[in-house]
Amino acid sequence: MTTAPTLCITERCTRELRDWELDAAMLICRPCHDQMRQWLQQIPAALTVLRDGSMQRERTGDTGGRGGTRTAPLPGRLDTLNLIGPAASGTVHDLYGDQIGGRPIIDTLGSWVRLICEERRLNGPAHWTETELAAWLIPQMGFATTQAWVSDLHRELFDMSCEIRGIARIDIHTKPINRPCPRCGDLNLQKTDHDLYTRCTGCGSAFTQNELNDDAIRRAAA
Ligand SMILES: [Zn+2]
Ligand SMILES: [Zn+2]
Repeated sequence: MTTAPTLCITERCTRELRDWELDAAMLICRPCHDQMRQWLQQIPAALTVLRDGSMQRERTGDTGGRGGTRTAPLPGRLDTLNLIGPAASGTVHDLYGDQIGGRPIIDTLGSWVRLICEERRLNGPAHWTETELAAWLIPQMGFATTQAWVSDLHRELFDMSCEIRGIARIDIHTKPINRPCPRCGDLNLQKTDHDLYTRCTGCGSAFTQNELNDDAIRRAAA
């Protein structure tokens, strides 16, 4: 008897959950879990880029514009200030994700820290900063994978990451990978910059570089 496969519940991912993931009561796949950790790990570096950007604009801003070495203003300053601005006080957790555009990082991270603190009866970080909130959340990602709200968390971290990248003006490219998908065999693999995984647009699988290498060896030996 075959049962229907259980799929990862995050958006944009239809990877079939492996037995060990199901045994661990995970609702999302390991690649999606790793990606959330990676987005959180990028926060300290991203803040440096965002703060530099907004400061540069301050220095070269509206000073009358006579002489000097004014550089072209960086676009998106308002968005930048929004992203690194303080969270509105008393923000409630945005369960339905209907808040878009320049939501402060501290607000996004803070609402998830609050939720996990309540559910696990934990204390949050000592200081309510983007960096400390992100560091506090990283070891909680394993727990998060077992919770029904993990797809909301994954989407919000993804949105935050895109927003940060857009403002940091780092271009993201997706390129086709010219080898068959280890799962479905079609030539639909592609790799996007900053993504840890190569993904198949045909069957929705995601593969690490090691998995792809193992598959190439298997195919060569077959
Ligand atoms: Zn997934
Ligand atoms: Zn495939």
